[in-house]
Parts: sequence; structure tokens; C-alpha cells
Amino acid sequence: MALIVQKYGGTSVGNVERIQNVAKKVAQFVEDGHQVVVVLSAMSGETNRLTMMAKEMQTRPCKREMDVLLTTGEQVTIALLSMALQQRDCPAVSYTGWQVPIITDDAYSKARIEKIDGQKMLEQLALGKVVVVAGFQGVTIDGDITTLGRGGSDTTAVAIAAALNADECQIYTDVDGVYTTDPRVVPEAKRLDKITYDEMLELASLGAKVLQIRSVEFASKYKVPLRVLSSLKDGGGTLITSEENFKDNEMEQPLISGIAFSRDEAKLMILGVPDKPGVAYQILGPIADANIEIDMIIQNQGRDGTTDFTFTMSRLDAESALEILQKTANHLGAREVTMDDSIVKISMVGVGMKSHAGIASTMFKTLADNEINIQMIGTTEIKISVVIDEAYLEIAVQSLHEAFELDK
Ligand code: ADP
Ligand code: ASP
Ligand code: MG
Repeated sequence: MALIVQKYGGTSVGNVERIQNVAKKVAQFVEDGHQVVVVLSAMSGETNRLTMMAKEMQTRPCKREMDVLLTTGEQVTIALLSMALQQRDCPAVSYTGWQVPIITDDAYSKARIEKIDGQKMLEQLALGKVVVVAGFQGVTIDGDITTLGRGGSDTTAVAIAAALNADECQIYTDVDGVYTTDPRVVPEAKRLDKITYDEMLELASLGAKVLQIRSVEFASKYKVPLRVLSSLKDGGGTLITSEENFKDNEMEQPLISGIAFSRDEAKLMILGVPDKPGVAYQILGPIADANIEIDMIIQNQGRDGTTDFTFTMSRLDAESALEILQKTANHLGAREVTMDDSIVKISMVGVGMKSHAGIASTMFKTLADNEINIQMIGTTEIKISVVIDEAYLEIAVQSLHEAFELDK
């Protein structure tokens, strides 16, 4: 007998038939003798629908109320699944995040889980019930409802698996595993049987939305065996695990494990600022103070005592960052401030890169052959990222996938 945490995403619970399909799968695991905690998303499209309604009420909806609103989607699916399980004579009980409780900090819309009380779930499992928990939500110590950021049900599932010391956390979605890149953009993409936590962490943080980044952070920190599978198609999916669980010959294989991309990027430039100590701090400090995360940064070689500064961030934060940067520009006497929100970031990821030269040059040549201009470059030991015009995203990803023979 194993304790398994299973998470089903929006498409997998997108309508009544799909929820009944989930109930059938869960009931089978119970019949096979396992204990199951199920974490659910809202029906696909529901979180977006609620967001749009909020925007009709308030230009910048109050974040606290937004979280109260968005958590309703998950409350619908957990109740329906519990009913569907009971209908199959499989005892089940549903809990919202605050009933568990899943305690978070008070950063509405991107709250972090601080503590999960596993007692109630364990008691119900011991009574032979399936426990169905609403994903993506929690509660502050003061009793305010929070959400964990888009895609946050993945994180709920892994955090519960860690808290209950589960044998495996299974993420059921609309693809049958983690691929070398998004199969919607490159149909030739290959499914990976296994991938390391570190590589998955890079892919997720660089835009591969198959797993929310925080779920991979949790899995890596608490060594939760994590598997991505399809809710509609049978198969072993992709196991995300530690490097030591790879055999030596497996680890040596691919230089590149995958290509990730993010369409959610914007670039700000401040031109003609004084080239002297403290300027980077004066430009980026106020932006960090506004809780806006900066990604890539370039400072040009100074000339005539002035220099230019370029940095990227999430498109969602670009307008707010621009407002702040304009104030800084007046203060510093900068020549000009500009924003470009039609850029994307493409990244090649692979632990094999650590010991191999020439990956970057092949990447740049492939882009050059397709007449794609590189606007910014960033590297770490196991990734190379470039910023390009969004119009070239598909062709860039497809040609890089082919150049590195990821389809082989
Ligand atoms: P869910 O609603 O189940 O949480 P998501 O839409 O959040 O599902 O994540 C699944 C999607 O992630 C897939 O449909 C696919 O388009 C996308 N995706 C992006 N990169 C990858 C990748 N490397 N491997 C598999 N899927 C990926
Ligand atoms: N329903 C939320 C979203 O759409 C959380 C999730 O699905 O993981 O982002
Ligand atoms: Mg998701």
C-alpha cells in the first residue's frame, strides 16, 4: 500500500464527464489498495473568466478580494469530485485550503505556503476515505484567503506530498509527460522518461508551464518523487528526481534536455544615465522596492560619461515598472526611457552543458541562419537564454529543436 498525492489540472476536470473520468481513475487506485489525496484545479478557463469579471468591477482589482474570488473555482471541482466518488461507493471528503488548513504568508496573488497541518487529512485517510483538496489556495494566520499564483495547484500537491511524506506525487495534465519542448509549438518534441530536479527547475522558471516553479522547488527540497502524466492516456509519464537516481550512462546522454520559452516578457531601457557608482542601484532599487522581479540586465560600455541600461521583467509588471523608471529618469537627468513588450525569451537547458563548449555558438548560428536578431543573452552553468522579437518565437524554437537533434 502506498500513499499517493494526485493532482488533476483544469483540462482534466473541465466538465462533468472529465470529473467522472477522474473519479474512475482515483477509485481504481483505492481498489488497488492505495491511500489517495487528490488536489484539483478549477475547470479550465474558470480562473480567467473570474479575472475578467473582476476587471469589469475595478481597474486594478483589490488583491485581497481577487483571491477571495479566484479560490471559488477550485471549491466547485472538489465538491463535484467528492460526489462522483461517493456515487461509486468510494468514500471521499473535500477540503478547501483554509479547512486543511494550508497556512501561507499574506502576499495576495502570489502567497507562499508556510505550513500544512496534515492531521485532518491523515485522520480521514485512516478512515478509508479519499481526501480531495482545493489547489492554488491557502489562508493567512489571520484567516484571510490567499492564492499561490497561476498554476499554483501543482505547488499545493507537492507541498501536501511533502507534508504527508507521500510515496509519490502525480501531476495529471493534458500532455503525457515533460517533453523536450512544448509539444504545441514543436509537434516532433520527444517525451523524457526522467529529468533531474535541477533541469526541471530551470525549464519551469524559464517558462515551461507544465509545472509551476515552486512545485519543483518543493519537490527538490523535500525529495518528493514527482511524476507528470496524462489524465486521458495511459503511460508512465516523466519522473522528476535527483541526479543520483540516474545511472551513469543515462546522465551522460543529452547535452540539452529541453528548450523553454516565455512569452510573458517585457524590456525597459533607460538611455544616457551618468556612468558612475551607485547608478544601477538608483535605477533598480525603486523597482525592487515595488516587489517587481527583474530578470536579465545589460549595462552598455559607457561613453562621454554616460551609459545605457536595459532590463527585462514580466509583461504584467511592465507598466508599473515604466512609471517608476520615468520618475528615476527625471531624477537622474536621463535622456530617454523606452519600453518594448513584444519580446520573448528562449532558453536551452541541460546539465550536460556544464562540460561542453560550443552549445552557445551553435545556438547563435542557428538563429543567424534564420535571420533572427538576438537582443540580449544570459547564461548559467546549465542554461543559455536569448531575448528575441516575439514574431520569431515559433521558428526559433523549431529550428533550435532541429539543430540540436532533440527529435532524435
Ligand atoms: P494543467 O491545466 O493541467 O495544469 P497546464 O496548461 O498548466 O496544464 O500545463 C500543461 C501544458 O504545458 C501543456 O499543454 C503544454 O502546452 C505546456 N508545456 C510547456 N512546455 C512543456 C514541456 N516541455 N513539456 C510538456 N508540456 C509543456
Ligand atoms: N486555477 C488556477 C489557475 O488557473 C490554479 C491552477 O490551475 O493550478 O492558474
Ligand atoms: Mg498548470
